[in-house]
Amino acid sequence: MREVADLVVVGAGAAGLMAAIHAAERGVGRTLVFERSRDGGRKILISGGGRCNVLPSRLDPADFVTASSPNSLRKLLLSWPLAEQRRYFEKVLDIPLALEEETGKLFPVSNKARHVRDRLVEAARDHGADFHFEHSVEGLRQDPDGLWTLDVTPMGTVRSRAVLLATGGLSVPATGSDGTGLRILEGLGHTIHDLYPALTPLTADPPPHGELAGISLDVTMTAPRAPRRPTVRGGFLFTHRGWSGPTVLNLSHIAIRGEGEGLLEVRWSHESAEEWDRRLRDAGQEEGASVPVGGFVRRALPQRLADRLLHEAGVPPETPLARFPRADRERLSALLGAYPLPWTGDEGYRKAEVTGGGLALAEVHPKRLESRSHPGLFLAGELLDAFGPIGGYNFAWAWATGRMAGRGAADYLRQHDSGGGG
Ligand SMILES: Cc1cc2nc3c(=O)[nH]c(=O)nc-3n(C[C@H](O)[C@H](O)[C@H](O)COP(=O)(O)OP(=O)(O)OC[C@H]3O[C@@H](n4cnc5c(N)ncnc54)[C@H](O)[C@@H]3O)c2cc1C
Repeated sequence: MREVADLVVVGAGAAGLMAAIHAAERGVGRTLVFERSRDGGRKILISGGGRCNVLPSRLDPADFVTASSPNSLRKLLLSWPLAEQRRYFEKVLDIPLALEEETGKLFPVSNKARHVRDRLVEAARDHGADFHFEHSVEGLRQDPDGLWTLDVTPMGTVRSRAVLLATGGLSVPATGSDGTGLRILEGLGHTIHDLYPALTPLTADPPPHGELAGISLDVTMTAPRAPRRPTVRGGFLFTHRGWSGPTVLNLSHIAIRGEGEGLLEVRWSHESAEEWDRRLRDAGQEEGASVPVGGFVRRALPQRLADRLLHEAGVPPETPLARFPRADRERLSALLGAYPLPWTGDEGYRKAEVTGGGLALAEVHPKRLESRSHPGLFLAGELLDAFGPIGGYNFAWAWATGRMAGRGAADYLRQHDSGGGG
């Protein structure tokens, strides 16, 4: 037996770091943080293109996805209101944030993700948390006396009065999260709701739009047959392997899960097929024979995309608007206003910003994030069954649940104060 702790935090990602700060600042006794990567917070470092989109400027629980009770999700998310989270970053951690007007995202004024990661580690250390990087927790069990035993590579066996798991999901395994924590929880008898990559680019093999790679535009995308017909508006990007950008990422889980037959439709200029049809018809009447269909469509879309859609519709670009056959017009309007995205696959966890599914929210206490079946075990972050759209929502979830679990662990240790150690 080499180490004895009051609290072990497993995982120094967004949720684990916030949890370690809030537990350690309450003076819980010896707090060890085990983190498998060499310095922790690897996802914070790559987030927001290296700038870290710390928070959104508005937060609506209805934008989140869970297979658990939306009400449980709501309570957990709003346990730390957005304005207070922002104040905490700016006033307590001394990380001023700036709003990016076009996207509604909050970034550190420094525009450096490293600044965020380093301040979180520093704050946890200042409160006494003891970090062990390149240490991986491979096993966890609760002994009959209620204490926890962890198998830590390379340290060996560690005993602790409480454990806080914040090991993330399965997304971007290169950052250290490979689902070990979820496997541990399942081994302890917890329910793990189906896992799937979310916020990940979609692909097709062969990619039908490979020649459009690099084109980006603002679109409206909808899943017309999925429950509640989710619709998003924002950036869309053609890639060499398929499609990405905020709209694609935000609806990718619907495709991946085959909801509404996985059908995703794009309105390339926000207008519906009916609106396009009317516009083309009216233009034909107003502008006379001189304006070709190609020129008209190119005014609304990037030229190469316009040409591609005309080609797919079998419409010669030089067709005069005034003599545009109705069947051709309707076919083109359908592709302009309700384009069925021909995806056949996805980039999976390799590029997924988050993992869908996870620990059933019904199995954690809604005010402490303590396992209902295993007292002394606290959970936070992406391993819980919830994710939000891109734009800072997922960090908001990680910060809120990390804080609640850290405080919950501190309260637990205070209530079960046995002189510490175990
Ligand atoms: C490319 C990319 C960009 C993103 N950008 C944004 C953004 O700008 N804004 C936003 O809100 N969200 C963003 N996200 C999502 C956000 O990063 C996650 O929601 C968030 O990091 C989840 O935090 P977490 O602490 O729960 O998990 P993680 O950040 O995955 O942290 C888990 C930690 O646990 C460690 N670990 C795992 N298993 C073990 C083990 N057995 N023993 C020891 N350590 C272990 C891992 O090494 C890791 O450090 C992005 C994600 C990606 C992939």
